Amino acid sequence: MQQKEESKDLGTTSSKSEELTLKRVYSFGDGKADGTSNMKELLGGKGAGLAEMTNLGISVPPGFTITTEACIEYYRLGNTYPPGMLDAVTESLKRIEQSMGLRFGDSERPLLVSVRSGSRASMPGMMDTVLNVGLTTKTVKGLARKTNNERFAQDSYRRFVAMFGSIVMGVPRHLFEDVLNRKKVEMGIVYDTDLRVGSLRDLVESFKILVKNETGKNFPDDAHEQLKMAIRAVFSSWNGARAITYRRLQGIPDSWGTAVNVVAMVFGNMGETSGTGVAFTRDPNTGERVFFGECLMNAQGEDVVAGIRTPLPLVELARSVPEAYKELEATYKKLEKHYRDMLDLEFTIQEGKLYMLQTRIGKRTGIAAVRIAIEMVQEGLISKREALLRITPDQLAQYLYPVFDTKEEDKVVYLCEGLPAGPGAAAGKIALTSDQAVRMKAAGESVVLVREETSPDDIHGMDAAKGFLTVRGGMTSHAAVVARQMGKVCVVGCEDIEVIDRQSVRIGAQVFREGDYISVNGTTGKVYGGNIPVMDSEIIQVIQGKLDPKTSEKYRLFSLLLSWAADEKKLKVRANADVPDQAKIARGFGAEGIGLCRTEHMFFAEDRIPIMRNMILARTTAERETLLAQLLPLQKEDFIGLYRAMEGFPVTIRLLDPPLHEFLPKREDLMVEVAQLELTGRDNVQLEEKRRLLARVEELHEFNPMLGLRGCRLGITMPEITRMQVRAIMEAACELSKEGKKIVPEIMIPLVGMTSEMKSQKDLVREVAQETMDRYGVTIEYLVGTMIELPRACVTADQIATEAEFFSFGTNDLTQTTFGFSRDDAAKFIDFYRTNKLMDADPFATLDRGGVGAMIKQGIAGGRETRPGIKLGICGEHGGDPSSIEFFHELGLDYVSCSPYRVAIARLSAAQAAIREEEKEK
Ligand code: PEP
Ligand code: MG
Repeated sequence: MQQKEESKDLGTTSSKSEELTLKRVYSFGDGKADGTSNMKELLGGKGAGLAEMTNLGISVPPGFTITTEACIEYYRLGNTYPPGMLDAVTESLKRIEQSMGLRFGDSERPLLVSVRSGSRASMPGMMDTVLNVGLTTKTVKGLARKTNNERFAQDSYRRFVAMFGSIVMGVPRHLFEDVLNRKKVEMGIVYDTDLRVGSLRDLVESFKILVKNETGKNFPDDAHEQLKMAIRAVFSSWNGARAITYRRLQGIPDSWGTAVNVVAMVFGNMGETSGTGVAFTRDPNTGERVFFGECLMNAQGEDVVAGIRTPLPLVELARSVPEAYKELEATYKKLEKHYRDMLDLEFTIQEGKLYMLQTRIGKRTGIAAVRIAIEMVQEGLISKREALLRITPDQLAQYLYPVFDTKEEDKVVYLCEGLPAGPGAAAGKIALTSDQAVRMKAAGESVVLVREETSPDDIHGMDAAKGFLTVRGGMTSHAAVVARQMGKVCVVGCEDIEVIDRQSVRIGAQVFREGDYISVNGTTGKVYGGNIPVMDSEIIQVIQGKLDPKTSEKYRLFSLLLSWAADEKKLKVRANADVPDQAKIARGFGAEGIGLCRTEHMFFAEDRIPIMRNMILARTTAERETLLAQLLPLQKEDFIGLYRAMEGFPVTIRLLDPPLHEFLPKREDLMVEVAQLELTGRDNVQLEEKRRLLARVEELHEFNPMLGLRGCRLGITMPEITRMQVRAIMEAACELSKEGKKIVPEIMIPLVGMTSEMKSQKDLVREVAQETMDRYGVTIEYLVGTMIELPRACVTADQIATEAEFFSFGTNDLTQTTFGFSRDDAAKFIDFYRTNKLMDADPFATLDRGGVGAMIKQGIAGGRETRPGIKLGICGEHGGDPSSIEFFHELGLDYVSCSPYRVAIARLSAAQAAIREEEKEK
């Protein structure tokens, strides 16, 4: 009756509406939900998984899914159910009733349902789920009779009132906990399981009074009313604070909405042959091919995920319910084969019978992701291309995370050990609340968050912390799942920890205060007092020659994957490297040359800066040339190192770029020093020198140095600098060439805006290069090109290409000059823009395709028009950003150049871009 009324209110009786025919509710098994359909978008991950399992003949409790489209409509209509939706819910509910032989709201054989959220992307614990919907004063009696277990019925009822009261009606959860704790104290018991029927009944009544007092409303005693309210709550949880934060962190669009799954309840807490668990078809930490999971006997699913009791390994099931365990094994194998990926499963066993409640692609660490993908190729489940597409660049980056220095680890105080749930090493100051973690991070501290357990409300603190440590919870607890996803270090279930109060915690035998250092090893689960220094990952140790590659399984997997990437990618990947050590690392990661050597970094070295300063202070060209002559051998030595590390590959060397004042002391500091020397009046020589320096600094002072005397303007106004640099570049090349080495220099002129600038510098470069080669009697093939980093250069690229033999897009400056955003000052307002949705991404990190991208396109077209086949690359920060790399691939550049440590990630991204493009074309 009540249902009818609400339907009318919502206008479902309207006959005209074609919207009525829109299918908003799917019973499990109704639709196909495999990879070839878009059912996941419509039904959410959980709904699609349940539908698909039903199709596969796997034991799933009956149920239905309200679509994500219905959720979006609900919001569009101003928090109103779409027309016809509730009627469809009633219809689908009847199918569950028939299938279970039960009736919703019935006093004899009551059907209970769970109402669960489920969006397209997994958002663990970020939205709401309500269990046992349909329990009322009437149906609880039927449940007791049917199960012959009054305690079970009352226990379910009190859990339900608390859950519904907090999630749906908004009463703070801790108020229910306070009532429960008072009852336990009154009864003199410690565990919930010791509560007797009478106490449970009292609790139900007290909880209902609490709800009435807090909300002014009666707790609903009608099953259908409860269902409607629960569906509304799940829809609303899509826009809850936790879900919004999580979406922002994970880049999930707000417009997707959540589906709602209504599923017949099955009970894992009906005695010792009942239980519930979570499993992964392979180890989500290491990727090892073992069935991996945890269960709790005589418990409900929420107990496992919330980490309130530390669960047991799955073998426990094999012992207590062998038949169900066998079926579970057969099910996981069938599902993994079907989905061809590692899966995360949730199940319940009700009195020996197995029900699968969920299957989805399992979250995994980066280490596991690579191993699983490679092994699945070797098992013939997926192709190499699929394997490459499955690994996100961030996951690959986890191979490079630092680890504790084992020698140091032995020296510090060992405190205790928990379950290793997020690999890596984190040392930091203890924060006991998430808010505190955020404050400490803002103050520049490294933070380790220590909690009893984490809940979705902790998401901001988890984001701020380097690692987390929890007292309770297993490998599938909230903390563990989130850690794997965020790539954070995590140890859970560390029961030898006691949070004493808001400021202090006992870890092992020692008491710590918030702000004290601890170190957490997420690979071994060990926790230490103090701040252990970290060391390079195995991969970097191999590349640096400190570890034998044959002894490192991680290196084997990492390099195998990259070799597959090399077969697919079209873009070459070079490195931005200024010194030989960086070049060696870059080669180790497979860099195919240097795309940018910023030569100014060579001048910043301690032994060179005084010569550089004097060179800048020089009054005459002759004086300047003498000083430059002192810098020449030093630069040459660096170039020799770079060439050696990159033998056979191109090395792009950029002539001096930044404004000269960057090499001099700060004007304000000098003023203070001069004033002090004047006051003391003791050291006249020094005073004179400082005055001279200050005068020159004032002369060079620019209001807008980024737009001042920098880039090619330096070499044009002070050609002796260009002369020295070209001589060093070519002498180094000639000397190595004489040793029989193949050297490929590419000399790059920075910040060119006019063809005349390019011509003037190119002519000078050619003249000095020829002189040098003649002197050595050697011929070297080299190119002279330019950076394209000004809008004028993009627009006149056809003319510039008459002089330039290659273009390298400097997307840092090009972003700065296209937007008119200072690259050093924009962070403040870009953050504001992003928060207020004026901008999706920071354009200095992810290339702005519409504006800067359009400039690049024009530059490419101009360059190719004049010089077909001109070599084109990019060397701004965007060269290491996966989404930008995809764009550069689409533009058909020859290479991207990025920092040495991003080379592997860029190679994977380049391969993914190539594969995706081919798949699109198919
Ligand atoms: C650029 O501007 O993109 C670039 C690579 O040069 P720099 O960052 O040195 O200005
Ligand atoms: Mg630049």
